[in-house]
Amino acid sequence: KLIVFEGVEGCGKSTQLRYLRNWLTESGWWELIRDRIQAEPVVVTREPGGTDLGLELRRLLLEPGKETKIQESAELLLYAADRAQHVEELLKPNLERGVVILCDRFTDSTIAYQGYGRGISLSLISQLNQIATNGLKSDLTFWLDLDVEIGLARKRQQGEITQMEQADLAFHRRVQQGFTDLAKAHPQQIIRIDANQNQELVAQQIQSILNKNLTQ
Ligand code: C5P
Repeated sequence: KLIVFEGVEGCGKSTQLRYLRNWLTESGWWELIRDRIQAEPVVVTREPGGTDLGLELRRLLLEPGKETKIQESAELLLYAADRAQHVEELLKPNLERGVVILCDRFTDSTIAYQGYGRGISLSLISQLNQIATNGLKSDLTFWLDLDVEIGLARKRQQGEITQMEQADLAFHRRVQQGFTDLAKAHPQQIIRIDANQNQELVAQQIQSILNKNLTQ
């Protein structure tokens, strides 16, 4: 199963992924699946950066040289290249073996960031997502819904956000609108979790949904 985590900056995806992996390791489910598939039952990965090529692309995307202004269409294609490699090299082979994949960001991030955020045509993005995924879709997506201002403040505290990114509040609000619209359009597939709550509560909610989903 492909389980995806989405949300704006600072929404707590990486913390929740860590909690969830530990929780799964300690559950009886882990042993059961490990015996059945003869492999580690869970792979935690992310976009961009889930493969060696993806790590290079992540560096290019998130730490371009000072002189480089990445064009919006170039950015879109680099994220798509990262995804295409990720799907073929890591996601598909593991899913075929019966591994559960916990993936930090997937196709919805491209719709939210490059579509809603940058204003690139949604139908074009949908075609590109189709090429990059070859039709692979998440089985379940958790959208960690956090106020944009709170998320940016968290990132700033961790020293992970530049003044410029932070200033562009309007951009992040559009991204948030993207996730909101996506969740409305796909209520079966995208589960909204209120990420303004404390982390333990968020983790419990994710675990109880996943518990049902994995034992189905
Ligand atoms: O979730 P994580 O912090 O690893 O994401 C890295 C950055 O990549 C985010 O800050 C986000 O702004 C950016 N991103 C993006 N478009 C995507 C995926 C990620 O702009 N499709």
